[in-house]
Amino acid sequence: MTNKLQKIVQTLSKRYQINEWWEIYTPFVTLVSIILSQRTYWKNVKTATDRFSERFKSVEDVANASVKEIEEVIKPAGLYRMRAPRISNIANDLVEKYDGKLNEITNLPYNKAKEKLTLIKGIGPKTADVFLMAVKGEQVLPVDVHIFRIMKRLGITDNKDDYESSRAKLEAEILPNQRMKTHLILIEFGRLICRAQNPKCEECPIKRYCEVRKHDFAVPNI
Ligand code: SF4
Repeated sequence: MTNKLQKIVQTLSKRYQINEWWEIYTPFVTLVSIILSQRTYWKNVKTATDRFSERFKSVEDVANASVKEIEEVIKPAGLYRMRAPRISNIANDLVEKYDGKLNEITNLPYNKAKEKLTLIKGIGPKTADVFLMAVKGEQVLPVDVHIFRIMKRLGITDNKDDYESSRAKLEAEILPNQRMKTHLILIEFGRLICRAQNPKCEECPIKRYCEVRKHDFAVPNI
């Protein structure tokens, strides 16, 4: 039987193209790109990631660079004063603990790899999951800020859910080989239609499934 979330994903799949953007980058640059992509327009993320990839050829390069230089390189993505120290810290930690070799982590089974990643200051569970999904093809369904908001509005998760319980609920409904696609499609939908501020409910293709819309004509901004 097709559940509510599967029907939603089927409907949205007909509208949105997915873009596996990480395929052109090294694992470390992919990790940086994931950090830059939070609450940032994709075009700006791409520009900053390309500049980063041009300037830094290894994790050691980044660890040896000053925070100021990293700031300059990633500036097009914005929030660079907050993100540059985070990236510098991750690079330094990777050099110190793993000799700069991310494959010492990615070669581990999912749970172990996630545990090691989240021990690095600056990498949380969501960043770790997106990274392992992108670089290793792990069949997880990371819940980013867009997906978190959409799921609450649809009534699939609620205020009591945190990152891991939201992820578990979504993964229980979506087949492993559909999770990456679902992650990317929901993000696109959140960016374009179910936005944090002023969602475009009138043109929403899944409004019949929306709990907030059903009970409250003015959808609250989240
Ligand atoms: S009806 Fe509005 S709030 Fe509900 S899912 Fe669609 S865009 Fe989001």
